[in-house]
Amino acid sequence: MLDWLIVGGGIHGVHLACVLLGKAGIASERLRILDPHETLLARWETCTAATGMEFLRSTSVHHVALDPHDLWYYAKRYGYGERAFFGRYQRPALNLFRDHSRAQVAAFGLDRLHLRGRATALQRTETGWGVECDQGRLEARRVLLAISVSEQPRWPAWAATLRAAGGPVWHLYEPGFHPDALPREGALAVIGGGISAVQVALALARNAPGRVTLLMRHALRIADFDSPPGWIGPKELRRFLAEPNLERRRAMIVGARQPGSVPDDVARSLRRAEQQSLLQVRLDHVQRAYLQTDGTVDLELTRGVLRTHGVLLATGFEQHRPGGAWLDAAIAANDLPLAPCGYPRIDRALRWAPGLYVTGALAELELGPVARNIVGARHAGERLAAAAAG
Ligand SMILES: Cc1cc2nc3c(=O)[nH]c(=O)nc-3n(C[C@H](O)[C@H](O)[C@H](O)COP(=O)(O)OP(=O)(O)OC[C@H]3O[C@@H](n4cnc5c(N)ncnc54)[C@H](O)[C@@H]3O)c2cc1C
Repeated sequence: MLDWLIVGGGIHGVHLACVLLGKAGIASERLRILDPHETLLARWETCTAATGMEFLRSTSVHHVALDPHDLWYYAKRYGYGERAFFGRYQRPALNLFRDHSRAQVAAFGLDRLHLRGRATALQRTETGWGVECDQGRLEARRVLLAISVSEQPRWPAWAATLRAAGGPVWHLYEPGFHPDALPREGALAVIGGGISAVQVALALARNAPGRVTLLMRHALRIADFDSPPGWIGPKELRRFLAEPNLERRRAMIVGARQPGSVPDDVARSLRRAEQQSLLQVRLDHVQRAYLQTDGTVDLELTRGVLRTHGVLLATGFEQHRPGGAWLDAAIAANDLPLAPCGYPRIDRALRWAPGLYVTGALAELELGPVARNIVGARHAGERLAAAAAG
């Protein structure tokens, strides 16, 4: 039997495996990471590559290694040069971050601990937990759920109807999406108002100048991060953790989020591209979409119609609790406690039940609005290291 089974091999699963092996002294033969992809971090790598982003939004000390300065040392050691970090918050370049993350996976031998599969059921046992997956059954004294919202791209109803009718519409984060799928000629509409929408519209416009319209519901909202930086440290978190009422904690999370916002440099790039007529920005939203007999699509807006040859959704993810049907069944079968918002009711050690731990979105009511981010994984690491050692 394993000591630890981590379900999900993304940024959180990988960082927490490093913490358990490198900090809490868990032996590598006693830990496994269950993830359906061919390689660990695959979901992160595909999503970030799809946007065409050059730099992360977060800072240089947020990454998967144990030492916060590790990314700095790595960039210096391997000569990433001046384009390694950007701006006041020293945001790392995506290629640097990817290489460094892969190097951590190699340093801890995590590929050898990766079991390729998807958890489909979870049952309490006498000594811990049993996890059913498409490869069979795994047993562990402790299970850590490190799944995220990244498998639930948000499809507006009109777009789902258009897809069902065979229309040329894709979601940036749908499995297997690649920009090569987009029509090579004609107009392209990118739908969304946040950082991913702006980044992908800019990347497409560089290759297809004049063809792209970015359709945003609202004017640009400028913010460095997707929640104020006070939430990264004790300033806001102390107040959050002092609040015993989970409905009020949820309200604090919702109030702190800055959805659909972009950092200033990304906003400036967009304005520049617009001035150079590389793309157009339209503030409006789609009410209905009509597939024409020639394969084009008419997007009916509140002010006029936008005819396009392809629609790319950059509308983010559904924000409901991740996991879907198998986790719903596990919650019911094991009587796992939930807050009124439907998210896990957990303790300070991120424990949902004896031997069952969560991170990321599932740990939001303990880690606050940054739970889903890279720093959320680091905060989870501090809590878990203490729990695992105890
Ligand atoms: C384009 C983009 C850019 C981002 N940029 C930043 C940034 O700059 N800074 C920042 O802090 N955050 C950023 N984020 C937010 C966040 O850090 C990332 O989404 C990050 O990938 C979250 O890590 P994760 O491990 O929770 O999820 P993921 O990386 O999505 O990994 C979860 C894994 O769990 C697997 N899984 C799901 N269900 C099961 C199951 N039943 N059994 C087994 N495995 C399962 C999934 O397949 C996936 O591989 C960004 C997000 C996106 C999409």
